Amino acid sequence: MPSFAGQPAGYSFASPRILAVANQKGGVGKTTTAVNLATALCAAKKRVLLVDLDPQGNATTGLGVQRAVIRDSSYDVIFNGVRMKDAAIATKVPLLSLVPSSIHLSGAEIELVNADEREYRLKNAMGDVSGDYDYVIFDCPPSLNLLTLNALIAAHSIVVPLQCEFYALEGLSHLLKTIERVRKRFNPELDIQGVVLTMYDKRNRLSALVEEDVRQFMGDVVYKTVIPRNVRLSEAPSYGLPAIVYDMNCAGAQAYIQLAREMIKREKLIAGRQAMVA
Ligand code: ATP
Ligand code: MG
Repeated sequence: MPSFAGQPAGYSFASPRILAVANQKGGVGKTTTAVNLATALCAAKKRVLLVDLDPQGNATTGLGVQRAVIRDSSYDVIFNGVRMKDAAIATKVPLLSLVPSSIHLSGAEIELVNADEREYRLKNAMGDVSGDYDYVIFDCPPSLNLLTLNALIAAHSIVVPLQCEFYALEGLSHLLKTIERVRKRFNPELDIQGVVLTMYDKRNRLSALVEEDVRQFMGDVVYKTVIPRNVRLSEAPSYGLPAIVYDMNCAGAQAYIQLAREMIKREKLIAGRQAMVA
């Protein structure tokens, strides 16, 4: 298991920082980012809980967990009162736990409509894990449905993967409006940890153009690190491994390690600001 930050195990804020990896657009790199960022944070000695909120279960299978053997899932946490702690299972990655997804989540939208406290089910479940992890990361489904809304309400911060393609900004403004609505109605503290450009192809001029536009539009919130298009990142899930474990030296893995460093730096700034206010 690679290690890069030389920080003592257990370095933490009092309770975990909760990050939602979200973008309503499909196939932009949410799961790849959630899995590899989580792994890179573990390599930096952070204790991480990854919660798979997508009925597709790509984060679950991408970590080598067979859906047939899952006992409790994020569905059970949201609907059946199972404690997050009890649904969490160890993974092959040291310090990384996973609350797997279940196919039952595909009916969650309909079930949530009439549920009590339907927007707060996930938030209400988070108390269970306070103190056990440094980070909780939600891998969200490709939609702005009630499940994603639950994640945005339970989270402190959102990480937005943005694929370097023509319509990137269009989707982003829709997401920003949603974040604003969530802030106003449900979770005033929700902030954007950062926007990460994914599948960057330096041979394709479009990637550079999109990068320029996004940086102009969003400013410093866009991470300096960009994730290159890299075949190793797309191969790794079929081996049930994060790319950082599958091939730590590939460009994609290195980019996620760099992204985690950048994220931790931002987290320290946030923690410093919170300490000054307290
Ligand atoms: P969904 O919306 O369906 O949940 P997603 O946003 O989670 O999708 P991923 O599953 O992470 O997106 O990525 C979509 C596809 O692109 C996957 O096959 C993944 O392996 C591949 N992929 C993601 N990032 C990269 C990259 N940087 N280079 C090459 N392939 C990538
Ligand atoms: Mg996904």
